[in-house]
Amino acid sequence: MRSIHHQIISLILAILCYWRTGSIFISFLTFFIGVFIDIDHGLDYYLGCRKITLSPTELSKDREKSYLIFHAVEYILFSVPIIIIFPYYLPVFLSYFIHLVMDCFSNVNILFRYFIAYRIVNNWKNPKYVEVV
Ligand SMILES: [Zn+2]
Repeated sequence: MRSIHHQIISLILAILCYWRTGSIFISFLTFFIGVFIDIDHGLDYYLGCRKITLSPTELSKDREKSYLIFHAVEYILFSVPIIIIFPYYLPVFLSYFIHLVMDCFSNVNILFRYFIAYRIVNNWKNPKYVEVV
């Protein structure tokens, strides 16, 4: 998923959040989480290629290993108790959730790509390169 799409959706969520809560902090956090989850693509690229780039094309290329530590379906499950305790952070959770759903739908051909447990068990191998026995 392209960054501009995440920025647009996150901005809309942040505006809605501000409209409903009046909190600049939560609105900013909603936008920040929705956009900057993708910063792990830079880490992924650096660990895979030992280089730094800002090229979106280079950052989104598949490599044999995938170190996308902020993209994980498991974090959604862990967030549920936090949201129950602190419902004020629901927009931040929604921003993360929507970001992940958008990414999942743009990479629907690789089912386990966004499960960090799967990547850890398979030594961070990109699911595209994991051999099925
Ligand atoms: Zn993403």
